[in-house]
Amino acid sequence: MADPPTHTVPADTLRYLVAAIFRKAGCDADEAERIAVNLVSANLTGHDSHGVIRVSRYVEDIRTGKTVPGQSLTVVAESPIHAVLDGNHGFGQTIGPQAVDMGIAKARAAGLAVVTLRRSGHLGRIGAWAERAADAGLVSIHFVNAPGAQTVAPFGGTGRRLSTNPFCVGVPPMAGRPMLLLDMATSVVAEGKVLVAANGGKPLPAGALITTDGKLSSDPATLYGPLTPNGPRSYLNGTGAIRAFGEHKGSGLCFMCDILGGILGGGAPSGPGRFSNGMLSIYLDPKHFGAQDFVRQTMDYVDYVKSSPTAEGVEEVLVPGEPEARNGAIREAEGVPVHLDVWVDLCRIATGFGLATPA
Ligand code: NAD
Repeated sequence: MADPPTHTVPADTLRYLVAAIFRKAGCDADEAERIAVNLVSANLTGHDSHGVIRVSRYVEDIRTGKTVPGQSLTVVAESPIHAVLDGNHGFGQTIGPQAVDMGIAKARAAGLAVVTLRRSGHLGRIGAWAERAADAGLVSIHFVNAPGAQTVAPFGGTGRRLSTNPFCVGVPPMAGRPMLLLDMATSVVAEGKVLVAANGGKPLPAGALITTDGKLSSDPATLYGPLTPNGPRSYLNGTGAIRAFGEHKGSGLCFMCDILGGILGGGAPSGPGRFSNGMLSIYLDPKHFGAQDFVRQTMDYVDYVKSSPTAEGVEEVLVPGEPEARNGAIREAEGVPVHLDVWVDLCRIATGFGLATPA
């Protein structure tokens, strides 16, 4: 299959345009900038599913009141090593850093911290929050859920009972090396990747989806219903589901994200209702846990793992976080290839707000 047509846009131009759109949509300048930086950084890492493709949904979410600009989180309870936070349906790009910074401050003082966050707007690429903690020298673990966006069938089932519930672990890097970052949906693909495929982008892997009568599928229409070129892409219009990754094991991890990221922090598990992200985060300061030189030893282990002989057709063994770091370096220098439909949509939104669009 031919690569879908893209329009390469310098990262700065994209950030400028997206920030301008969100200022017009009702965010103050700082929040608009945070949203722009966060979405474009997802594109830079190669996760186009969580990049500027989200702009139209976010703008619509402001219009419908699903996400509220200008919110701050509320501290429901706290101690020196934990906090229970409520995001009040504010933008994840505002609430996320507030929650992470609280975890960082507590873990720096006490060695570790556990922070639950409920009712946040879309937190986007969860790796961004692990990167923030790693920049502060902390290991972090994140279990995330998404009530109001259940699109995933449990192992052995065909009904939508779970969400794409991401799980993420970040480990601070040695100077000059990429950070170690496992950041993944617990479904075969993130919903955004079905959206990318529906828009003519990278096709889905075989069997990523399941129909209501239990047939495996890779057709985005299984999730979104019949697709027309400029028609809506809402999973509410379809009947099938995304499959949890890794059979019963991945389905179990996805399920636990709902218990830990949702119910434990006073939020909701996957189910119908208003969309939010819930997140349980654990922050660990490596110097409290017995490793003599955690970062050095970890990097030695990375080298050992990467020295494995490669399988047929594989050039190099990569460790989690390497693909993102490599994409980031290339795309920051060469520009972000934005799928043409997404670019046209961005320009349409900008024009609708009376903004000039870049040539
Ligand atoms: P993915 O399938 O591309 O997997 C990404 C992970 O696999 C990364 O840790 C990456 O470093 C690693 N990886 C990729 N190729 C590798 C290789 N060849 N060797 C070793 N490691 C490799 O990502 P995904 O599951 O589609 O998730 C995409 C993004 O979607 C994530 O950033 C996630 O946080 C986000 N997400 C967010 C939500 C939400 O509700 N906010 C929901 C689902 C997913």
